[in-house]
This record gives sequence, C-alpha cells and structure tokens, in this order.
Amino acid sequence: MKIFKTVQELQTYISSLKQEGKMIGFAPTMGALHQGHLSLIHKAKGDNDISVCSIFVNPTQFNQKDDLEKYPRTPEKDLKMLEKAGNDIVFLPPVEEVYPPEHEKTAIDFSFGELETVMEGKFRPGHFKGVAQVVKRLLDIVQPHSLYMGQKDFQQFTIIQNMLEQLGSDIKLVSCPIVREEDGLAMSSRNVRLNPKQRKEAVMLYETLQLAKSIMDNYTPAEIKTIALHHLQKSDFRPEYFEIVDAKRLQAIDFFENDIKAVACTAVWVGEVRLIDNMILN
Ligand code: AMP
Repeated sequence: MKIFKTVQELQTYISSLKQEGKMIGFAPTMGALHQGHLSLIHKAKGDNDISVCSIFVNPTQFNQKDDLEKYPRTPEKDLKMLEKAGNDIVFLPPVEEVYPPEHEKTAIDFSFGELETVMEGKFRPGHFKGVAQVVKRLLDIVQPHSLYMGQKDFQQFTIIQNMLEQLGSDIKLVSCPIVREEDGLAMSSRNVRLNPKQRKEAVMLYETLQLAKSIMDNYTPAEIKTIALHHLQKSDFRPEYFEIVDAKRLQAIDFFENDIKAVACTAVWVGEVRLIDNMILN
C-alpha cells in the first residue's frame, strides 16, 4: 500500500497509473476507520483497478470546535486496517496541503438551496458548505473515475450528488449501504465516545427507524414523526430531528407515494455525542 502526504507525490503516482489505463475508485474519510469505511474500500477496489482512501479530518465542516477537537484520530490503526483490506493508496495530508493559501482564490462557494436548510443543514450551519469544499478539493487532487460514499450520511450523499450535477462532472457517485453493529447501531467513528450505558441505549435510533418502517402502511409521515420523537424521548436522548423526507429534495413529505423514495432521517444527542442514522422506507 502506498501512503502519500503531499498532493504532488500523490498526483504524480496517480497520473502514471492512469496512463497505464487503470480505473481509480476513491473513498474520502475522516479516519478512525471501522467496517463501514472498509465496505467503501472493498466496493471501490471491486469496481476499479485501484482504490484510493483519504484520511483527513476536515476542519471546515465542523460547526462546533469541541466536536473537531474530540474527533477520534487513530492513524496507525487506520493504516493497518487499510493494508489488511487490500487498499492500494492512502492520502494522509496535513491541512496546508488541502487548503494552501492560493486555494481560496479558486474555491467555489456552492449553494444547495432547499437541501441545506433542513435537518443537518439546519442544525449544523455551514456543515455542508465545508463538506462540498473538501470533497471538491479532494476530487480535484485525486481525479478518480468513481467516488464511493456511505448511505450512513444520506444527506451528505444528496449534497454531493447535487454538487457533481452543478459541476457537470462525469465522476460516477456510488452509494454504499449502512454497515451496522450486531445490535443495529450504525457504525460511526463517534461511537467510541459513548460510555457503556449510552452505547447500549444508542440502539434506540435503529429501533425507532425500524418502528417507523413497520407502521408506514397505517400512518402518515407526520403521525410517524410524532410517534418516533415520542419513542426517542423515552430514554436519555435529546432528539434533534426525526423527519420523513423525499430522498431527492430532502423535504418532509405529507404522504407516501410509490414514485417518491421516502427516507426517515434522524439526529440525536446521546450525552455529548451527536449520532445520525437513516432508513430508506420504500
Ligand atoms: P466519515 O469518516 O465519517 O467522514 O465517513 C467517510 C465515509 O464513510 C462517508 O461516505 C460515510 O458515509 C461512510 N460511512 C461512515 N459510516 C458508515 C457506515 N456505518 N456504513 C457505511 N458507510 C459509512
């Protein structure tokens, strides 16, 4: 496995591979890797000749300083996991490589309209601008044929899909299913910050999403939202939102319709840790 810390070295290597006609699949991450991340690498590797994984805790997408500071960082363990998973290239840049001073001149200030005014966009102001900024920059650096992202961050996927459309990009965006722990909790780098009691209770997110799915034939989305929020309030959680939305527009829907993909999305504070999860309902 090749490890690069600078843009120039990475690009020189990737362009030599491209000259040989190799297909490149790319999975950006913030490290503290788990099986969810590795599922992206396996898919990237399976679909392409070469898999590239970046590990970069992007400061511009954190709207709370505390969250950035406490974000878990385990680079050595990550590299071992990637090596074992058969990943080909790791890009592990310092902040100056991703955001050199001249970057500001060429950076695009994306707007995502209604997509960024609800749920994550509403509760984490500036978050999606930061995500779009870093993904655009990493795509410019890596120049992959395909980009692999997890359904775990469903809204982020929608934003990046929209960004690629705005750019007229021909990069293929691939969604990978949510990988869960045995009890159903979606794997997340932030899960290590939960204490044992919180970790046990956190399964409630998944249970609530399953409950929502199981009653969708009998209730409207608004009724399910009320039931779900009530369900989430029973434990020590502080739910931030539970919404049933149109997958494309991320706007709450009034009715279930066959030709509209409905997704239940939720964000909950468990102590000081904010967890998100979602489930496609139809
Ligand atoms: P992160 O390191 O949290 O920024 O995540 C990097 C990528 O891994 C994103 O595309 C996430 O959606 C994806 N990812 C994170 N957790 C999971 C999971 N449990 N299952 C599938 N993909 C995931």
